[in-house]
Amino acid sequence: MSRHSQHTRTRPLAPMLTPHTQLVYFGRAIPWVIIDSMPSMRKYKIQDDRVATPKQQWDCTKSVLLSHFTVELPQIWSFHPICEYFGLATHSVPFPSILTMAWQIGLFFVFEDTFHYWAHRALHWGPLYKHIHKKHHEFSAPFGLAAEYAHPLEVFILGSGTIGGPFLLCALTKNLHILTVYVWIVMRLFQAIDAHSGYDFPISMHNWMPFWAGADHHDHHHMAFVGCYSTSFRWWDHLMGTDLSYKRYRARQAEQKKEAAAKGLSWPTKPPTKNAKGALLESKKAQ
Ligand SMILES: [Zn+2]
Ligand SMILES: [Zn+2]
Repeated sequence: MSRHSQHTRTRPLAPMLTPHTQLVYFGRAIPWVIIDSMPSMRKYKIQDDRVATPKQQWDCTKSVLLSHFTVELPQIWSFHPICEYFGLATHSVPFPSILTMAWQIGLFFVFEDTFHYWAHRALHWGPLYKHIHKKHHEFSAPFGLAAEYAHPLEVFILGSGTIGGPFLLCALTKNLHILTVYVWIVMRLFQAIDAHSGYDFPISMHNWMPFWAGADHHDHHHMAFVGCYSTSFRWWDHLMGTDLSYKRYRARQAEQKKEAAAKGLSWPTKPPTKNAKGALLESKKAQ
């Protein structure tokens, strides 16, 4: 097949990103909204004393939609033309094999996690926190929809870690298909939404892949405001000692669960009293 015909065959993928991104983001977040409404799932809730109210979920959805259309989509859309501008082929290289996609996406995960750890730590520095990162921390008990609830500048800065890996690989090897980039973005969205879900199930990835961060790790960052800065993996926090309070807290929580089980009580032992921002629930205030 000529270079030209390959070019026209794969190019229409790019405009598909508008509905595609919304579908992936909200499609992945909706199961968490449903789980949030099921009392039987409360025993898996990490911050079991807090719930996201429907109003909080709706306000969050509106804000995320706005940032998708104003910041994120231009960033995703510009990836392809920027690559072309620099003479980098993302659509005319051969269709990738599963193996090629796997190692390339594996590299993107490692690159993004490293970028995110340091950029996120920097965002916790006084002035940057106050003017940019504070918005993402409004919810001290996160939920799926809140994954991209952030200041537009933060979406742009941290989004660079998602796009940066593919861009560098493309520049260095000239061997990156746009399809691999799309699969990577979908996987990265899934990772971010799941990390904000607020739930830890026995089958959750970090329980059988100990270096995977997951909700168990990032939920603590929202609760404590410091530590656990990475996205996908645990090694940077472990290496830099920024997960010590997390480890202590989880050990204490495990003790409490054991004590409750020994007394024959079901977990959690008390109903939720606070909303996702930490304020008392309306029903509690009325009492
Ligand atoms: Zn933070
Ligand atoms: Zn977060």
